Amino acid sequence: MSIHFSCTLCGRCCHDLRLPLAIDEALVWLAHGGDVQLFCDAIVWPQEPPESDALAQHRRRRSFGAHSGTLPIRVTVTLVAAFAGACPNLRADMTCGAYDRRPRVCRIYPAEVNPFVPLDPAAKACPPEAWADSGPLLTRAGKIVDADTAALVAQSREANERDRFGKAYLCALLGYDAAALANEGFAIYAPERSRLEAALREAERSGAQADEMQPHDWRFITNRSSTLSNLRSIGATAGYAQDSDDSPGYLGFFDAETGASDQRHSPDGPGTL
Ligand code: SF4
Ligand code: SF4
Repeated sequence: MSIHFSCTLCGRCCHDLRLPLAIDEALVWLAHGGDVQLFCDAIVWPQEPPESDALAQHRRRRSFGAHSGTLPIRVTVTLVAAFAGACPNLRADMTCGAYDRRPRVCRIYPAEVNPFVPLDPAAKACPPEAWADSGPLLTRAGKIVDADTAALVAQSREANERDRFGKAYLCALLGYDAAALANEGFAIYAPERSRLEAALREAERSGAQADEMQPHDWRFITNRSSTLSNLRSIGATAGYAQDSDDSPGYLGFFDAETGASDQRHSPDGPGTL
């Protein structure tokens, strides 16, 4: 199946987002007055997966090794520019006011960065006319054929891999040590802008050495009692997500009582994590 695409400049994809940023992009976003948060999640990692396990290898490339109690884990930290309503860069005519410095994820949309997520036009914010067969070819048989978009996706994956040690170092610098269980939610830190900017610069400068650092101890936070008891039973440090000044925020994908998926936390747009 082939998918054609031509942007109509409707601006729908530039609202209510959580834009994932690389370290260099986060510094640019901060320099222009934006706010950046850290979304942290972690997965239990008892042993290295085989090379043939493509999904696990993908996860490995964008995470760093750590431990929680006696349990080996891998932590993924996503730098996020979050905003409700229109992006602060969106102009009244629905063009981007930061076109030359817009994040890669904006340039890639509506294509997917994650190789395990197929492009589904029905799940995108773009209107039907954007997908007309008269537009340029974007994908064929699930593969991106637009050369510029394919190059941007490759750059984005490289940045994720390159940044992972810098993010480990960043969390050590900021004293952040809480993560949600992967696929269940995110622990969210919202550092003050100048503090984050200084730490990001240091992480960018020194982060490549971070894999030689003694990994610091992480704790899981959750809103579900079953997750809490399961994690504790296998040796992890875990506690309930708490609403206090010195605790990170918690964005759960599931209701604490029923376990029902909460779709409010799965927005579409360039910011889908
Ligand atoms: S920075 Fe991205 S989300 Fe913001 S207006 Fe530009 S393209 Fe849209
Ligand atoms: S929603 Fe789609 S068609 Fe509309 S501006 Fe964004 S990329 Fe273009």
